[in-house]
Amino acid sequence: MFILIFIIFCLLILLYFKFKNYVPILMYHRIADIPGDRNALSQEKFAEQLAYLAAHNYHTITPQDLYNHYVNKTKLPKNPILLTFDDGYQDNYTKALPLLKKYNMTAVVFPIYNWIGKPNKWENFGKQETLTMNLTELKSWLNHNLDIQPHTANHPFLTQCNEEKLKLEIIDTKTKFEKLLDKSMDYLCYPYGFFNQQVINIVKKANYKMAFAIFENVPLWHINLFALPRIPIPSHQKMWEFKLKVSSIHIIFVAMRKWERQFKHLKNKFK
Ligand SMILES: [Zn+2]
Repeated sequence: MFILIFIIFCLLILLYFKFKNYVPILMYHRIADIPGDRNALSQEKFAEQLAYLAAHNYHTITPQDLYNHYVNKTKLPKNPILLTFDDGYQDNYTKALPLLKKYNMTAVVFPIYNWIGKPNKWENFGKQETLTMNLTELKSWLNHNLDIQPHTANHPFLTQCNEEKLKLEIIDTKTKFEKLLDKSMDYLCYPYGFFNQQVINIVKKANYKMAFAIFENVPLWHINLFALPRIPIPSHQKMWEFKLKVSSIHIIFVAMRKWERQFKHLKNKFK
């Protein structure tokens, strides 16, 4: 019995040291109150989450900070956390930005090049219609010391694209974004979190420094700069769960989503 407890204790210590340097990367989409849309978080809930992070001495960092930390071993502030927003919805500008400013926090938004300043018609699966940030809003977002990085040109499933299409979505989009916003674009966000080795090869060829995924296909035992796992923050997020998701055991939530998806996949296979 004593040996078993000792082994479990050692295992926990090992896991703690293994994962304590992992920085939680949160994934948001819309900041809006839309019943039934798990990707839309109300502004009240978002405010509550930022208030918690501020009160508990969390420090928001940029993708560049994270890269420098992982590659050049630069030191990060205490309790580092990276906030990311997918798709570049206009409510990120109207609802999230004022709160980020209130708490002096930073974040990165990933707009889709060909959908800038347009209705969200790429989501043609019953989503409520809304707008994305236009060019003026994107420039203002940058002027507030917040970051912008690419999320491809059309938001395709990259794993279903041929090489020519991948080059357009990944390489050409980087150049177009750099020209449009007059800044370097080094960090790609995969639509739907999907990627494979062919995608990674093109991402590397385009000289991106890192790429953000979700939990799908990401390794958990080591950090792959081109497959960084992110933690989704859904609309129904309870505060106690949020607190765990930003804690040093957050990687467990990534693992849980991975296993949940694999389990569902297996279940469908044997139906
Ligand atoms: Zn997206």
